[in-house]
Amino acid sequence: MKKILVLEDEANIRSFVVINLKRAGYETIEAGDGPEALEQIQKNPDIKVALLDIMLPGDMDGFEVCRRIRATNSQIGIIMLTARTQEMDKVTGLMTGADDYVTKPFSPAELTARVDALYRRTGGEPAADSAEISQPPFLLNTRNRTLEKNGQRVKLTQVEYSIMKLFMDNPGKALSRDEILNAVWGKNYVGELKIVDVNIRRLRIKIEDNAQAPTYITTVWGYGYKWGF
Ligand code: CA
Repeated sequence: MKKILVLEDEANIRSFVVINLKRAGYETIEAGDGPEALEQIQKNPDIKVALLDIMLPGDMDGFEVCRRIRATNSQIGIIMLTARTQEMDKVTGLMTGADDYVTKPFSPAELTARVDALYRRTGGEPAADSAEISQPPFLLNTRNRTLEKNGQRVKLTQVEYSIMKLFMDNPGKALSRDEILNAVWGKNYVGELKIVDVNIRRLRIKIEDNAQAPTYITTVWGYGYKWGF
């Protein structure tokens, strides 16, 4: 069963989300506040995707829940549900480790499309035959979906891993934002191109010696990015 956590304090919205996800074939685990969501994640290690509302009752907002999940789990897919449309909210959400965001109000079709796309990326992708791509100081293990730099594990989300894989499959090639979006988020992705930049900014912090002066992921102005090998 494809298991999804739905963290949303407003009962109307939560049941709307749950009904539509069930219709799309998902099993839903519900939570009404942050601590309850974290407890459910612990109890259900087979949850593949979490939908996190941002404004929640109590001390813990959706960003904090996201941070706490990511502190121990880089595999789960996280989509933030935001009522506020300010760009900063979205960006902050992504910087805390979310993979995507959906702005309320959203249509059932939009929501399921996002969940399906993320589920495909995080859920049991068959292991590849060739297990490693070595481009010192980086070593990408495609079987475990892990990255090492100088022998040290770099913790990546599934989206970040997919971007790294795309780069390391295409050394020295300038990749447009559209190409990256299509390859990583899928051709049916309905969100904004900006999500590519946000994820790359976060990836640079993790893999570059100096994220302010990147040498591995370089910017191709007005076009996209290049893996600098
Ligand atoms: Ca709320």
